[in-house]
Amino acid sequence: MSVRELVVLGTASQVPTRHRNHNGYLLRWDGQGILFDPGEGTQRQMLRAGVAAHDIHRICVTHFHGDHSLGLAGVIQRINLDQVPHPVTAHYPASGQHFFERLRYATAYRETVRLTESPVAADGPLAVTEAYTLDACRLSHPVESYGYRLTEPDGRRILPEKLAAHGIKGPDVGRIQRDGVLNGVSLDEVSEVRRGQRFAFVMDTRLCDGVHALAEGTDLLVIESTFLDEDVRLATDHGHLTAGQAASVARDAGVRHLVLTHFSQRYSDPAEFERQARAAGFDGELSIAQDLMRVPVPKRT
Ligand SMILES: [Zn+2]
Repeated sequence: MSVRELVVLGTASQVPTRHRNHNGYLLRWDGQGILFDPGEGTQRQMLRAGVAAHDIHRICVTHFHGDHSLGLAGVIQRINLDQVPHPVTAHYPASGQHFFERLRYATAYRETVRLTESPVAADGPLAVTEAYTLDACRLSHPVESYGYRLTEPDGRRILPEKLAAHGIKGPDVGRIQRDGVLNGVSLDEVSEVRRGQRFAFVMDTRLCDGVHALAEGTDLLVIESTFLDEDVRLATDHGHLTAGQAASVARDAGVRHLVLTHFSQRYSDPAEFERQARAAGFDGELSIAQDLMRVPVPKRT
């Protein structure tokens, strides 16, 4: 059984609090793990969440502010210390290449793992695997910031009643799936399109076209909501979203499960983010992220 879930490692913007670590999110997608925005303390949060260095195949950094990237130094050294047996690829804004290099080589250690640097310089696809296509999309923040989106290719779902109607059973079921046709019956006649699942990670940004493009039709959307709606001017000035803005985007995009995170330390009641998201008309599944929370990718419809 393939596992697709988000493991939340940290949820604070700017500075950690007593209850929230700096950012950090691991997406498990079948056998692959993608680590997003490892802030300071991510290595220890991984331990607390049951995430091993071996679970990381790819690292995606949205931008080079410390709450999204200071953890790179520790995580990269841990990947090497543990001699992770597979190569690891890192994506980050190309304009921050010097920051990435400093973090990668912050102190002395022995390199044992092949870490491929794959900087992002424009919107578009970064990687195509059997399980997903990974795209980047430019956001709007005082420093260059990119959001990321995973799209599973569409597949086909076999319809047992159609198989039965054509008298196809036993090993013939595998044959028609493999060959696309069996005794004049095409695969299309006994199956339907199974829409690929979609995930997006949007952080840090004010409202812009990229936010909408990334969120469109996602099963699971992780999006920053640094501010509450009454502080919308602060949010816009500093290149952030409010709870109501993030939820409105999700509502219009048909998001199935919305995860709000990256909260400013100025607020003490997380429930207010939920109230404002609902007031904005989002009626799908909603999680107000907490450290160490796990969020499954919603089941296929
Ligand atoms: Zn941030």
